[in-house]
Amino acid sequence: MTPFLRSTVLFVLAFAPIACRGNDAPSAPSPKTETATAAPAPEAVPAPSAPVAAEPAMTKPASATTYNKLTPIEERVLVHKGTERAFTGEYTDTDTAGTYVCRRCNAALYKSDSKFHSGCGWPAFDDEVAGAVERILDADGMRIEIVCTNCKGHLGHVFEGERMTQKNVRHCVNSVSLKFVPAGKPLPAPIVLPTGGK
Ligand SMILES: [Zn+2]
Repeated sequence: MTPFLRSTVLFVLAFAPIACRGNDAPSAPSPKTETATAAPAPEAVPAPSAPVAAEPAMTKPASATTYNKLTPIEERVLVHKGTERAFTGEYTDTDTAGTYVCRRCNAALYKSDSKFHSGCGWPAFDDEVAGAVERILDADGMRIEIVCTNCKGHLGHVFEGERMTQKNVRHCVNSVSLKFVPAGKPLPAPIVLPTGGK
């Protein structure tokens, strides 16, 4: 890197807006996403329409063999740990009563009464459904990543000590990792696979 380039980069870094910490990786080496486009989509649903051939029935419900089918952006975030752009998610500022479930496996993750406006550009919660969210050290070695306990789908990051709410915790979650179920509507059945997220 030339000295000029280097100082330009430093300048840009120094003056980059640092509103609040979020899901955008600070300087994480961009993870290789060569698999991102070659969506493997294991559609191994046994065809139930075999007309006559009477095989000994081994009919499992489709929900037991695959997670919910994801759009490319959902797959990029949930499976490849990507991040949706700040202030673009459909749930960033919603406050309707209900439950947020995992878009990949339907597990209930957050209740609307834990949701708050963080101003950071992503949906924020200060508590999770007990046991539904797992915390792991992010690949950047600094932040704490949160994933769905059931399917290991990437949700976002969790930050503590910001004093935004009494609980002093902020789950910063990508909207595309979630699906909102309004209060009063039945929650979808969680999809539990023996492989647990693989
Ligand atoms: Zn899940």
